[in-house]
Amino acid sequence: MSQLCPCGSATPYSVCCEPYLSGQAAAPTAEALMRSRYTAFCKGNLDYLVATHHPDRRQVDERLSLHQTLNETSWVSLTVISTQKGQPQDTTGQVEFMAVYRAPELGQLHERSRFVKANGRWFYFDGKRLPPLLPKRNQPCWCGSGKKFKQCHA
Ligand SMILES: [Zn+2]
Ligand SMILES: [Zn+2]
Repeated sequence: MSQLCPCGSATPYSVCCEPYLSGQAAAPTAEALMRSRYTAFCKGNLDYLVATHHPDRRQVDERLSLHQTLNETSWVSLTVISTQKGQPQDTTGQVEFMAVYRAPELGQLHERSRFVKANGRWFYFDGKRLPPLLPKRNQPCWCGSGKKFKQCHA
């Protein structure tokens, strides 16, 4: 049995994000790069996170702050909400997603990320945090508890 990819694609890791994280292939779309970066957060692959961050946007202390995030945060799930452009023929793209994490308390990151392509490769450019997504009362809670939203975190 092969392991499912952490990015929530419901496909095996070996044919989903692993080829990107291992450098065998470049993510063809902004969404694929976004998913592979989420997987890199799950797997603690700091080198991949630095390499796929746009060189103009890297901070001097980026490795240090990423290292802290990787140590303090465990990722629970990823939901891609929408994408704009970011296809193989595009040079820019946006992906809106919601990621659930524990640090150690449960939290939700709802972000619209911008991606740009340079030298044929997609890079994460920056992201805008959005207000938390709240499901309707009778819908399943975002935290993955399996409870209805109105019964969760009461
Ligand atoms: Zn994946
Ligand atoms: Zn909940």
